[in-house]
Amino acid sequence: MHCPFCSAIDTKVIDSRLVSDGNQVRRRRQCQECQERFTTFELAELLMPRVIKSDKTRVPFDEEKLRKGMLKALEKRPVSADSIETAISLIKSQLRSTGERELPSQLIGNLVMEQLRKLDKVAYIRFASVYRSFEDIREFNEEIAKLQE
Ligand SMILES: [Zn+2]
Repeated sequence: MHCPFCSAIDTKVIDSRLVSDGNQVRRRRQCQECQERFTTFELAELLMPRVIKSDKTRVPFDEEKLRKGMLKALEKRPVSADSIETAISLIKSQLRSTGERELPSQLIGNLVMEQLRKLDKVAYIRFASVYRSFEDIREFNEEIAKLQE
């Protein structure tokens, strides 16, 4: 990597060690031109598939957006923050384990509904009514009926 001081191309690693429980590599580098030293950190990138929206455009996976949507559905419901985070981790690992580089947003919505259904029925109905935008009251009632089965 280039030297941040003089932009020289040739920098040398003089020390390398694992940090933060082995999840990062910290490297001490020295510029061969100006002799300045600097540190770099290397972190594994856990690649999430990109999201194919209904209009076919592709956007990066947005964990914050997912969390916001779930928190909104779970507002004032008796569900712990830990359970919500566990559900989010589960959704993310399900998405990664598909091995696909791109996934339809619909699939993510379905995974969210599946998790909300286990966490809290009211949140599930809230989310489903927004996400599926039920056409009429009959469709809504069908969904409620399914929950009671
Ligand atoms: Zn330099």
